Amino acid sequence: MAEKKEFKAESKRLLDLMINSIYTHKEIFLRELISNASDAIDKYYYYALQHHEAVDGLEIRIDLNEEARTLTISDNGIGMSKEELEDNLGTIAKSGSLAFKEEMAKKEEKPSDIDIIGQFGVGFYAAFMVASDVKVITKKAGSPDAYLWESDGANGYTIESAVRDGHGTTIELQLKADDDTESYSQYLESYTITDLVRKYSDFIRYPIKMEVQVEKMVEGTEDNETPDYESVREDKTLNSMVPLWKRPKSEVEKEELDRFYKDQFHDFVDPCKTIFFNVEGNVSFTALLFIPSRVPSGFYSQEYKPGLQLYSRGVRIMDHCEELLPAYLRFVTGLVDSQDLSLNISREMLQHDHQLRVIKNRIEKKVLNELGSMLAKDRPAYETFWKNFGLDLKFGVYNNFGQDKEKLENLLLFTSSRDKKLVTLSEYVDRMGEEQKDIYYVTGASLDMADRLPIVKKLMSRDIEVLLLDHQVDEFVMQTLGSYRDHPLKNASQGELDLDSEEEKQELEKTSESNKDLLAFMKESLGGEVSEVRLSNRLVDDPVMLVAGDGLSFEMEKVYAAMAA
Ligand code: ADP
Ligand code: MG
Repeated sequence: MAEKKEFKAESKRLLDLMINSIYTHKEIFLRELISNASDAIDKYYYYALQHHEAVDGLEIRIDLNEEARTLTISDNGIGMSKEELEDNLGTIAKSGSLAFKEEMAKKEEKPSDIDIIGQFGVGFYAAFMVASDVKVITKKAGSPDAYLWESDGANGYTIESAVRDGHGTTIELQLKADDDTESYSQYLESYTITDLVRKYSDFIRYPIKMEVQVEKMVEGTEDNETPDYESVREDKTLNSMVPLWKRPKSEVEKEELDRFYKDQFHDFVDPCKTIFFNVEGNVSFTALLFIPSRVPSGFYSQEYKPGLQLYSRGVRIMDHCEELLPAYLRFVTGLVDSQDLSLNISREMLQHDHQLRVIKNRIEKKVLNELGSMLAKDRPAYETFWKNFGLDLKFGVYNNFGQDKEKLENLLLFTSSRDKKLVTLSEYVDRMGEEQKDIYYVTGASLDMADRLPIVKKLMSRDIEVLLLDHQVDEFVMQTLGSYRDHPLKNASQGELDLDSEEEKQELEKTSESNKDLLAFMKESLGGEVSEVRLSNRLVDDPVMLVAGDGLSFEMEKVYAAMAA
C-alpha cells in the first residue's frame, strides 16, 4: 500500500521554484544527482570496510530510454531506509538546500531569484527542473527492505515497499515534454549526457558508466581492404575519475576550484582564499583548503561543524575531521588526502594519531603564511577577512595559555585613534615617536566611545596614537600579548602614564597642594565610591574622569561580572 505524504512547507517553496524554473542551466540537475550518488558510495565504502564487505564494482550508472522518455541514475551506495527517505527527500534539512533556503528567505520574491539557483548545490530537488515525475527506488546496505518514493513535486509524495537487487539507489526521471523554450529531449541523447558529465562531474572518483553505441571492426576483417564494421552497444566510463586535487596544480583552473568549493562546501560565493599544496615527507599529503568570503551561516551556533574532509587514497573517510585544524582556524574548510593513513582508521584512533598532528602543524603553518602574505600584498582583501574572522585569530592569541601568540601577533589589526583605520602592531611601532616606549590602547563599549575617552584626546594632543578596542576579548588579547617587539602594551585608562615633563609634574603638585582641602572635601562627599580624588594632566577638554587603579581595568571588571552573572 502506498502511503501519501505532504512535503514540509519549506520544501514546497523550493520545489515550486524548481518546477516553474525558467533558469537556463537546468542541466545542473545531473551534477546534483551524480554528486549525491557519489556521496552515497563514499558512505557505503566506509560502511563496507567496517563490515568487511567487498568494495569492488562500486559505480554510478546512467541509462537513457528514448521511448519511455526516462533518464535513470543508479548507484550501489549506502541506500536509504524508509525513515531516511522521508527525512532526506521530504524536508529541506540538508546542507546545500538549506543554505539556498536561507538565502531565499532573505530576499523578496522576484524573478532574479532564479539566477541564484545555479550558484547553489540545490540538491535533489533540482531533478524537478527537468522531470514531471521522479521515482526513487532504494535499499539500505544491511537491510532486506527496499522502498519506492515517488513524486510529481507538486502534490506531495508516496512511499511503498519495492524490490531492488542489492543496496543502493535508483532515481528515474520522467522527462518533461519539450516546450518553446526548452528541449528536455536532449537529456535522452548520449552525447549530451557525456558532455555534461565531463563538464560537471569529471573528478567524481567512481566510474560513471553509460551504454553507448560504438562502431566496431568485425574481428578477422582487419586484413581486408575494406574491413567490416558493426554497431554494438557497450559500457563506457564517461569521467576521468581523477579528483581535482590529484591533478597537477598547474592544470587546475581557478574557476574549477571555485566551482568545486561551492559545490562541496555549500557556499554561493567564491572563496576569499584557496590554498592548494602538497607535502612530501614522513607523512605525505595533499591539502585543498578554502577561506570563505563571508561568515558561514550558523558559524557561531552549536550546529556549525568545523573540520576538514579527510581522504585516504582518494576515499573519503571523514566529513569533519577536527584534528586537522587548530581551534582558532575553524573557519577554514577543505580537504586533506593522505596515502599514509590507514583506511579503516577509527574515530577514536584519530584523536591520538601522530600523523594527523604532523598534518595539522603543516596546515597551521601554511594557512598563517598565506594570511601573512595576503596582509602584505592585498590589504583590502585581508581587512575583509579580518572583519569576518578576526575574532577567531584573537581567540587564538589567548587560547591555550597564549602559546600561539607569537604566531598570530603580526596578523592582528586594530583601529587607530589617528585615522580610525586598521593598523597592525608593527605599523604602530614603526610610526611611534622616539621617546615613546609603550603601545597604548583603550577599551570602550564601542569604538566611538573608546575614541571619546579623555585620555585618548590627551595622548592624541601629544601626537601619540592609541589603539581603540571595543570587544570583550580585546582586553584578554592585550594582556596575553603583554608586549610587542619589547614595547609593553599599556591600557591608557589604567594607572599612571608618566607622560608629563618634570616641569608639568611640579606645576601639578603645586596646584594640588594649594587645593588640598577642596580635593579632600570632594572625596568625602563621594563617600566610599572612589579611593582618591586628584588633579590630573590627563584631561584636555573634559572636567573629570574616572581612572581604574592598577588592579582590574574597568573593561575586565565588566567581563568578569558578565561571566559571573
Ligand atoms: P545534500 O546532498 O546537500 O545533502 P541533497 O538535496 O542533494 O542535499 O540530498 C539530500 C539527502 O538525500 C542527502 O543528504 C542524502 O542523505 C539523501 N540522498 C540523496 N540522494 C541519495 C542517494 N543516491 N543515495 C543515498 N542517499 C541519497
Ligand atoms: Mg546533494
